[in-house]
Amino acid sequence: MAVKVVDRSPLNFWEKTYMPQVLGGLKITLDNMLRPKVTLQYPEERPTIPDNYRGVPTLVRDPNGREKCVSCQLCEFVCPPKAIRITPGEIEDGDEHEHVEKRPKDFEINMLRCIYCGMCQEVCPEEAIFLQDTYSVSGYSREELVYHKAKLYELGGTLPDQHYKWDRKKDAEEKAAAGGHH
Ligand code: SF4
Ligand code: SF4
Repeated sequence: MAVKVVDRSPLNFWEKTYMPQVLGGLKITLDNMLRPKVTLQYPEERPTIPDNYRGVPTLVRDPNGREKCVSCQLCEFVCPPKAIRITPGEIEDGDEHEHVEKRPKDFEINMLRCIYCGMCQEVCPEEAIFLQDTYSVSGYSREELVYHKAKLYELGGTLPDQHYKWDRKKDAEEKAAAGGHH
């Protein structure tokens, strides 16, 4: 096997003092002291969250207050770490949303398992689950970090409905408006 001999030339006088390295290091320190600060005094100071930020997954309601989730369980199926657990529930007769058939009885997301991949949001046919701007998740026990339905709706809030798929009033209005043009 060929042996490669590495040439190690002896240090000169300046190199022996280590001063060039020490001064080089100090120059980097001084350069950084003069740059604008990028760190924040968290938690008093909070970062600006961009619109497309993917924080904690949340459930949302439509502008009429209806739960958009129809409990189809696609997100539960697709979630890579199996962080979602849904208990489907039927909507009772007489409820103003009985025509929607199902909504979740309970909806759990284990935030200790969630990897914030956004696949639940991608797959949801109802645009009911969104990764929004909540990024600070903490608790004293594992159980506290399994978020149930109420907490998920509290974090999600209301988002505009693009399709009015389940909105009978809007549907009737649109049909009447379309009829008016004939
Ligand atoms: S963001 Fe990904 S890991 Fe988290 S609940 Fe949705 S699908 Fe599961
Ligand atoms: S959040 Fe969307 S994908 Fe998940 S069960 Fe509800 S409707 Fe289905």
